Amino acid sequence: MYLIHGTYPVTDARLTQLAARYSASLELLSTLPLAKEYRLVETEPADFEVYRLVHTSEYIELLERVHREGHSTVGIPAGAVVFERIGVGGTLTATRLALSERCTAYHLGGGYHHGMPDRPNGVDYCNDVAMALEYILATGAEKILYVDLDVHHPDGVQTIFEKDPRVLQISLHGWAGHSNEGHYSFIGRGAGAGKKINMPLPAHTGDRIYLQILKALLASVMRSYQPEVVFYQAGLDPYRKDPIGCLDLSLRGLYERDKLVASLCANRSMPFVVVLGGGYDLENTPRAVVNTLAALAGKNVVFDEAESLGAPSAARALRWYKSLRTCLRQYLELDEIVSSELKEEGYA
Ligand SMILES: [Zn+2]
Repeated sequence: MYLIHGTYPVTDARLTQLAARYSASLELLSTLPLAKEYRLVETEPADFEVYRLVHTSEYIELLERVHREGHSTVGIPAGAVVFERIGVGGTLTATRLALSERCTAYHLGGGYHHGMPDRPNGVDYCNDVAMALEYILATGAEKILYVDLDVHHPDGVQTIFEKDPRVLQISLHGWAGHSNEGHYSFIGRGAGAGKKINMPLPAHTGDRIYLQILKALLASVMRSYQPEVVFYQAGLDPYRKDPIGCLDLSLRGLYERDKLVASLCANRSMPFVVVLGGGYDLENTPRAVVNTLAALAGKNVVFDEAESLGAPSAARALRWYKSLRTCLRQYLELDEIVSSELKEEGYA
C-alpha cells in the first residue's frame, strides 16, 4: 500500500495550517507500527498540462499566469495555486500507482471536489478528483465507483460527471439546505440519471445512523454494480469537533466508515484510490488520518473514542433516506433500513 505526500511551501496562514495537518499526520504515523504497512512516495507538483483533463484553456492560462507571476488575481490567491498543484500531483500519483499495481494508494492531501472547469468554487481553484476520474476513464474504465464522504457535497465533481454513466457517485454530506445539487432528488442527468446518489444528512446525525445508511447504500449498489476502480474522498470534516463540520461523527465512527468503504476492495485486487479532503480540527485530524490508514490496511482502530449517538436528528436522516429510495426506485433498489433495535432506542 502506498502513502503519497508532498512538500508544501509556507504561504498564507490558512494554507500553512492545511499543510501542517499533513506533516503532523506523517509524524504521528512514524511513531506507530502501522507505518510499516505503507510505502511512502513523495509527489512532485503536477504539470498544468494535466489540468486539461477537466479545465478550460482560458482558465488554465489564468492559473498559470497567477502561478508564474506570484500575484493573486480575481479572487485566486497565488499561494493556493502553488498548493493545489502539489495536491493534484499527489492525487494523480496515487491514481497511477493504484491502477498500475492494482492496489490501494492513499494521498495525504487533495480532494478539491468543489472546483469547476472554468472557475474557482469555494476555496477550490481546481479539481484534482475530477482530473483523476478523467484519467481513469481515459485508460478505458467503464465503471468507476466514486464515494465522497467529506462533510461537504462534491458539487464540482458532480457537475462535471452529471451526465456520465461511467461514474457512479455516492455522497453522504451535511445538509445546510442551500444547494439543490446535494439534495436526494438530484440523481444525475441524461445518461447519468440514476448514477448520482446524494444522501444529505441533518446536523448532529451521529455515528449510528450515519453508518447504517452508508452500509445500506454500499450494499445496495454493490449488488448490481461491479466497479473496476473505487475512488474515495475520505474527508475527515464530519468529525464532531471539526470547526466547519456538523455531523458529529466520532473518531471511532470515522474509522468504521473507512472500514466499510475499504471492505469493497478487500477481497479483490481492485485499484483503490483514497484522498484526504477536509478535516480542520488540527488536534484530531492527524489521529483520524492514522485511523483511516489503519482501516485501509485492515488493522484495528488506533485512536478510539466513544460512539456519538445523535438521536433526534437521526430520525430525520432516516426519513430522508426513505425519500432517496423513492427517488432512485426506477434505477436502483436501495435496501430498506428497518431495525427494531433502532426503534427501541428512539431513532426511527
Ligand atoms: Zn469538506
